[in-house]
Amino acid sequence: MQFIADLHLHSKYSRATAKKLDLEHIHISAQKKGVAVIATGDFTHPAWFTEIHEKLVPLPNGLFQLNKTLSKEAEKHVPPSCRQPVFFILSCEISNIYKKDGKVRKNHNLVFLPDLETAKKFNQQMEKIGNIRSDGRPILGLDARDLLEIVLEAADSAFLIPAHIWTPWFSLFGSKSGFDDLKTCFEDLTPHIFALETGLSSDPKMNWRVSDLDGLSLVSNSDAHSPEKIAREANVFDTEISFSAIRSAIADQKGTRFKGTLEFFPEEGKYHLDGHRKCGIRFQPEETRKHQGRCPECGGPLTLGVLHRVDELADRKTEKKPEEAPGFKRLMPLAEILAEILNVGPASKSVIKMHQKLIETYGPELFILHRLPLDALDAADIPLLKEAMRRMRNEDIVIQPGYDGEYGAIRIFSEAERSILSGRQSLFTLRKDESFPEENRKGKGTAISITPNID
Ligand SMILES: [Zn+2]
Ligand SMILES: [Zn+2]
Repeated sequence: MQFIADLHLHSKYSRATAKKLDLEHIHISAQKKGVAVIATGDFTHPAWFTEIHEKLVPLPNGLFQLNKTLSKEAEKHVPPSCRQPVFFILSCEISNIYKKDGKVRKNHNLVFLPDLETAKKFNQQMEKIGNIRSDGRPILGLDARDLLEIVLEAADSAFLIPAHIWTPWFSLFGSKSGFDDLKTCFEDLTPHIFALETGLSSDPKMNWRVSDLDGLSLVSNSDAHSPEKIAREANVFDTEISFSAIRSAIADQKGTRFKGTLEFFPEEGKYHLDGHRKCGIRFQPEETRKHQGRCPECGGPLTLGVLHRVDELADRKTEKKPEEAPGFKRLMPLAEILAEILNVGPASKSVIKMHQKLIETYGPELFILHRLPLDALDAADIPLLKEAMRRMRNEDIVIQPGYDGEYGAIRIFSEAERSILSGRQSLFTLRKDESFPEENRKGKGTAISITPNID
C-alpha cells in the first residue's frame, strides 16, 4: 500500500521545541497531515523514553501505536475525513561533535531501532559517553563512524541516516565543520550507509550533481519542532507498513518501493544561499566568490549556504536524474498559501480556521496539496485558492531565498495581481514589492518538478 512517512522530528524534551510536542499531539497532527508512519524522535531522552513506554503499544511489525485509551481521546481532535492509523518508528537524532584529522567535526545523525529492549541498551551505551538527559537531541563527543558501529551492533535491522547533510554548522557535508566525502566520515563502515537526509534547504535535484551520492536513497523529513510543522517534508512508500519493509525499501536502491519525497522549495530553507544575516547580506555563490567569502559590510566571514556547498562538491554540471532515483514534488505548506491569500501571517486565527475547514472537507493536508483535483476546490468558495494551488503545483511562484539561518519566503501572486484580484486597490495606488521581483518568477506556468513515481 502507498503511504507517507516522516522519519525525523523532535519531542518537547529537545531544545527550542513546542511544549505540547507530546505523543498525543504527534498522533493527531500526523493524521491531519496525512502521515501513516511517524518518528518518535528523541528516544535517548529518559523522560521521553518513559513516555514512549507508557503511551505506545509495541506491534509485531516493529512499529508502535498510541494505546487505545489515548487514541480514543485523541480522535476527538481529528476530523473524520483525516482519520487513519498512525504508526510510530523508534528514532532519535544524535549531535556528534568530535575531532578528526585535526579538525573539529560536527554532524547530526538519525538512528532507527526496531524495539524498546534494543533502545534501552543503546541508551545505556550513550549515557556512558555523554549527557543524554539535558537535551532530547544529545550532544556527544562521539565519532560518527563509532556511532554507526554501535548502531550496527545494536540489532541486525538497526540503521543510521546522516541528517540534513548540507546545513553549514551541523552536518556531514556542512561548510563549517563537515567532510568532503562520505568515506572520510564513515571509513570502513561507509557501505552501511544507504540513505541520506537532504534537509529543507536542498532537494534531490541539487544532490544529483554529486556522484559520491549515486546509489544512495535521498530521504526528506520535517525535523519538526512543533506539531504544526510535521510532514513539511516527507517520504512516499509503496510497501507494507513495518520496520523491516521501510528499512529495506530505503536500502534497496534498485527497488520501486521507495517512491520519492515531498519537498519544501529548497530556497525556502534557512541555509539555501550564502550571506550574513546581521548585515542583511544575501549572496548567490558567485557573488560570495567575488567577495572572497567576506561580508562587504562588516568584513566577517559569510555563512556559506547549501547551494554553495553543493557547487563545491559537485562533479557534474547538470542536475540529471539518475535512472534509478525516485521522483519528488515540491510543495508549500497549506498555511502559507492561505496566509498569502488572506494577507495575514501563517499562524493567524483566520488561517487556522480556514485550514481546519479545508481538511474537514477534503481530507489531510498533503492530500489537498498534492492530489486533490483542482476543480474540487471550487466548492471551497475561497477566492484565489484554486489559482494559488494551480500555481504552486506548477511552481509558478516567486521566492526570496533563505540564507544564514533566515527562512526564505514565497509569493504566489504578484502584489499587483493580489490587489486587483481582491478588489482592494486600483492599479494606480500600487507600490512595488521590491523583495519579490517578478523577473524571478519560476516555472512560468510549466511544471518543472520531476515526479515520475509519485502519483
Ligand atoms: Zn539536526
Ligand atoms: Zn556582515
